[in-house]
Parts: sequence; C-alpha cells; structure tokens
Amino acid sequence: MTVLGTLIPFAQTGRISAARIGAQLKDVTGALGESWAHGSSTGADGLPYLYADGSLEVATCQAHCQVIESIVIQTDLPAMEWPTREPGRMDTFPGYPAYGDVLRALGEAGCRWEEYGPLAFEGQCAIRVPASDVIFVFTAENEEEPLLCSASVAEHRPHACG
Ligand SMILES: [Zn+2]
Repeated sequence: MTVLGTLIPFAQTGRISAARIGAQLKDVTGALGESWAHGSSTGADGLPYLYADGSLEVATCQAHCQVIESIVIQTDLPAMEWPTREPGRMDTFPGYPAYGDVLRALGEAGCRWEEYGPLAFEGQCAIRVPASDVIFVFTAENEEEPLLCSASVAEHRPHACG
C-alpha cells in the first residue's frame, strides 16, 4: 500500500472499507479489527467519540449509537501506519505526499477536484472533490511545494441520536 493508494479510492467514494459517514463504529471495528485507540473526551453516554487506527481516524456522534460523522486520513507524518485486513498488522509507508503528486493521481483516476476557499489561509491551501465531498488540506508554509496534511469527509447535518 502507498499513501496515494489509500487517498485516491477515498477521494472517489468518501469511504474506507466499512468506514463511511452514517455507518456505526462497530461496523468499522468489525471489518478492520478492534485495535482502535480512542480519545479521552466522552459524550453523553460516557463513550469516547474519537477513534484512531494508525493514520485512519473517525469521529462518532456523542451517544451510544456511535454513528460516524467524520473520517480523516492523517498524512502529516513521515511514516504513516495503515490498518490491513489482517487483525493487528499495520502497513507502514511514507506520508506527506506533495501537492503535484496528489493532483496528478486524482487526474489519472478521473477524479475531478476544485479549489476549496473556506480552508485556504496563509500557509495552507485546500481542494475539494465534489463527487465525495472529500477535502484535502495542504500546508504551504515553506517555499517548497505544498504537502498534504490530511484528507477528510464530514457530515454537515449532524444526525439526531435516539
Ligand atoms: Zn447518534
């Protein structure tokens, strides 16, 4: 696996394995194994709502139904870890893909993108894939080519629990 091998299918579909907006956390842990770390913040039902399996992070609603509201691939590490189909085993590959490499791979996959103004600040630029609503955020702090920090998708209409 490579970082672009994880990013391009995510950009096309907004999904990673069983992880998709509106799925339940248990569907994802069932498909990718139970080796998820979780954040210390808890929601109304006392359950954590931030989960990570290597560089793959999901956030759920803050109740027992644990419906996934966002998915993030953190690429801002020299060495990313990625869950495999084999429980407990992680793939490792270099992170920080460059702007040009990401856009070239999207183009080769026939995946249309547009510049995304709401997340464009000084030292940062962003693109959005309309088909999936996946957003790529790049850091552009130095004068070199921007590097990808994360790719993510989020539910804009929070689901009503219960
Ligand atoms: Zn819920």
